[in-house]
Amino acid sequence: MRQKTPERTCVGCRGEGVRAELVRLARGPDGAVVVDYPPRLGGRGAWVHASAVCIGKAVRKGALSRSFGEETRGDAATVLNALRSRIEDRVLGIISSGRGARRLAAGTEAVREAIASGEARLVGFALDARGDRASIDLAAVRASLPRVDLPVKERLGRALGRPEVGVVAVTDARLAAALARELSILSTLSADPIEANP
Ligand SMILES: [Zn+2]
Repeated sequence: MRQKTPERTCVGCRGEGVRAELVRLARGPDGAVVVDYPPRLGGRGAWVHASAVCIGKAVRKGALSRSFGEETRGDAATVLNALRSRIEDRVLGIISSGRGARRLAAGTEAVREAIASGEARLVGFALDARGDRASIDLAAVRASLPRVDLPVKERLGRALGRPEVGVVAVTDARLAAALARELSILSTLSADPIEANP
């Protein structure tokens, strides 16, 4: 049977993966590697698994320079940090898109109601959320809802047009799936140690 999903080769491990599993890297005009996530830039690109190991290999062994056919500079930590911040921006973008569209409940009371009514699909906490976190956490556990960590209250608030938001409940299934996908990439990146030897 022919493979219908387009496969890409990881420039780090040379393994194949579908487009959704790989992150696109581009080369800036100054020769520095640019994380093109989600892919938007034109020109040549190289694909790499969203893993610290593969990114480390791609950067260290000159694989990127070969792939672009030109000297390409970048170190694993910088690329990883850039990717993390792109994913965080994406997470906040997804949350922002649920604003005012009844696809998301923000703040303690609204989240509590969304859980009680059975509308919540996923509950997310700002990293620095305190206050009612414990009681909402418990309600979410009882309702078997996935619980995720989100950026800090101030950034979460800004995405939702408020000064600060400590907790949200996503009530839209597609929004919840999109959010879970981004966060799983983020947790893979954090769990993956950077390869020690060059
Ligand atoms: Zn790989």
